[in-house]
Amino acid sequence: MTSLTRREFIKQTGVASTTLVAPFYLTNLSSNKKMEKNNTHFDVIIVGGSYSGLAAGMALGRALRKVLIIDSGKPCNRQTPHSHNFITQDGKTPQAIAELAKLQVQQYPTVSFFEGLAIQGAKTKDGFEIQTKSGKIFQAKQLIFASGIKDIFPDIEGFAQCWGISILHCPYCHGYEVRNKPTGILGNGELGFEFARFITNWTKDVTLYTNGPSTLTADQTTKLKNLNIKIEEAHIKRFIHEKGHLKHIQFKGRDTTAISVIYAKVPFVQHCGIPETLGCVLNEDGFLQVDPKQQTSVEGVYACGDNTTRMRTVANAVSMGTTAGMMSNKAFVLSNF
Ligand SMILES: Cc1cc2nc3c(=O)[nH]c(=O)nc-3n(C[C@H](O)[C@H](O)[C@H](O)COP(=O)(O)OP(=O)(O)OC[C@H]3O[C@@H](n4cnc5c(N)ncnc54)[C@H](O)[C@@H]3O)c2cc1C
Repeated sequence: MTSLTRREFIKQTGVASTTLVAPFYLTNLSSNKKMEKNNTHFDVIIVGGSYSGLAAGMALGRALRKVLIIDSGKPCNRQTPHSHNFITQDGKTPQAIAELAKLQVQQYPTVSFFEGLAIQGAKTKDGFEIQTKSGKIFQAKQLIFASGIKDIFPDIEGFAQCWGISILHCPYCHGYEVRNKPTGILGNGELGFEFARFITNWTKDVTLYTNGPSTLTADQTTKLKNLNIKIEEAHIKRFIHEKGHLKHIQFKGRDTTAISVIYAKVPFVQHCGIPETLGCVLNEDGFLQVDPKQQTSVEGVYACGDNTTRMRTVANAVSMGTTAGMMSNKAFVLSNF
């Protein structure tokens, strides 16, 4: 198939919006209609159609495999205004990167898309079955989970609204844009200690907010003080913000303090529970255990992207997705010999 320019794509599909989000949604809808006419059996079903799933889909589409990508449209970075540290796409919106990726994967005719939530998976005689919330059942010989993780926010008013905008998860993704600003770290103990001293390369004005009594060791406290890192133990009542842009921290029973940037590491759960129900092993950090081929502990089931690694970046998600797609195809090739 020859590749389509954006103009040609719009002409053929009738999708002609100037916004970035609308075409993403509309092309999914038309994909669902297309799905009705097709059968329900695939070589590979990919659960998760964000950066990692689309990369896997591209590798498999280019290998002429019949693929279904099921996506519920909730990538973890959706609230972030701009994405950084992914070469060629630095500073683009997360939606623009995903839209371009999807546009490119859609050009491979053996790849289909389904907008919806996969809620159940089972092993069958010939492979696997995936059921969606809307009641559709799809079959495939192999599965790839590119389903990401779900962040669990602390129960502090304003945190969720600021996430990805002024409460940040990663200095490699957003640290350059807020370099040299007075910066807070929300954390305590070993994690807070490591995060606070790590950030001193981006700014020398760092305060560790422990949100309650410090659990730092005496040695850690001394080390942070030697780096001029302040430690604030007061309980946080809320983050005062304007449309996600942090202005002040309000402490319980105390004054507020002005600040515009905070880093926080938050706990997470797997976004999709199906791999576990299929028997895929999680490692002690809660990630799906994979080998260098992105194969999980269950044969024929691959995983890639955030659900498998602490190295949480778009570039890594794409890299792992590409590997998963290529290795999944190789497994088909080898099974013929
Ligand atoms: C706030 C924030 C800001 C970030 N900023 C940057 C940045 O600037 N630069 C950078 O490189 N990285 C950034 N990251 C990290 C980056 O967003 C992730 O590494 C990347 O999104 C991982 O891609 P993924 O495909 O593995 O998962 P995701 O992008 O999270 O996508 C998972 C997809 O799977 C779908 N899904 C899950 N379960 C199901 C199911 N059961 N059925 C159907 N679909 C399902 C979800 O709806 C979602 O679309 C940021 C992360 C966060 C949280």
